[in-house]
Amino acid sequence: MNNHSEQANKDHKKNLIAITSFDSLGLSEPLLKAIKYHGYTKPSAIQEKAIPLVMSGNDVMAAAQTGTGKTASFALPILELLSKKERLFNRQARVLILTPTRELASQILASLETYGKYVSIRTAVVFGGVNINPQKNKLKNGVDILVATPGRLLDLYRQKAIKFNDLDTFVLDEADRMLDMGFIHDIRKIISFLPKNRQTLLFSATFSNDIRKLAKTMIKNPTEVSVTPRNTAAATITQAIYNVKKSQKSAFLSHLVKQHAWEQVLVFTKTKHGANRLTDYLKQAGLKSMAIHGNKSQSARTKALADFKQNKIRILIATDIASRGLDIDQLPHVVNYDLPYVAEDYVHRIGRTGRAGACGEAISLVSADESTLLTAIQRLIKQDITVKTCKNFKFENDTTHYNHKRKFFRKKHNKKISNNTRYTK
Ligand code: AMP
Repeated sequence: MNNHSEQANKDHKKNLIAITSFDSLGLSEPLLKAIKYHGYTKPSAIQEKAIPLVMSGNDVMAAAQTGTGKTASFALPILELLSKKERLFNRQARVLILTPTRELASQILASLETYGKYVSIRTAVVFGGVNINPQKNKLKNGVDILVATPGRLLDLYRQKAIKFNDLDTFVLDEADRMLDMGFIHDIRKIISFLPKNRQTLLFSATFSNDIRKLAKTMIKNPTEVSVTPRNTAAATITQAIYNVKKSQKSAFLSHLVKQHAWEQVLVFTKTKHGANRLTDYLKQAGLKSMAIHGNKSQSARTKALADFKQNKIRILIATDIASRGLDIDQLPHVVNYDLPYVAEDYVHRIGRTGRAGACGEAISLVSADESTLLTAIQRLIKQDITVKTCKNFKFENDTTHYNHKRKFFRKKHNKKISNNTRYTK
């Protein structure tokens, strides 16, 4: 283990092990009972820091690595505060939680229901891709907590199905992702509808300068909480690379899954089309697989994720829609079939495994034309990723060479490139 990963390991342990107990954080009995029922014994570091701040009404800006218990760090104090407040009626909401994806919205709702098992709180989740009318009906009598994706929330607001006159708390989760996904205008609009006098909590795995700029427009003197070094993956994740020719990636993935008898693998592709093609290939190879991406209907997305979580399918093939926030209990393997364009997405993708201190393995299949993407990732995580080879698979030489100056691919004939030395120095 090099110095960087040793440090990362120490940091990660520090993030998961807090010194206080949940009892000393000021949470009441019904919440403590739910936490215990759920098997949590100690708060994570982000929970230890954020829960008291949120409960005392502060605006908070928190940078927390994915998988370190971020959701409970805002959900628990919000539930605590709400349990002492009067109910609202007539399309009003007390707390609004904005998230970038539908899956994350559903997951946060599920966490709220878990933590709020013994308190009486009315929750709702709204997102696009499904009929709006049941959502309108659900909001008619008001809710305590509304979890929403930005587009559908704006539709509902314009149709006067939701009001925010009595909103107490606004949570912006995965704020950096919101910006990446082009939600900035929607977010600004939504913020303009909210009461000025409110508590704002901004959560994000990574904090870019753009996020800080956005934060300044929506948050007053926030207390900053940060529990992880920026842009690092949990040290419990073993990372490795296989150098594979593009045309051999499907066959090699199928080989890896079969050879190691992997039972639950999350695979990331760059495009929706690529995800569909790979799914068809793996199915033909006898591996139960499903794709999850933005062109799928909401019911297909929900089913794919549920089947994957219940081990009904072995491989879930996703575009970056699934790279943030999704919590799949004990997910052992993540494969980057294609490297992501944005280096930060690598950290988020592999963060689907190795969550809450569990061990995980992240494998990347890297073709020659992806060498610049790999360099950017290694620079970001300040780590050279181990290159592995596989004796039982017949690798063909990857002779594709990317000409950076002329920006197109050409074949470089007669030049042998060693599988091990191409990318890492
Ligand atoms: P999150 O970062 O909120 O997505 O949480 C990641 C995972 O950690 C989820 O499976 C949570 O159930 C779990 N988790 C959250 N808080 C704790 C805790 N205090 N102790 C053990 N597991 C936790």
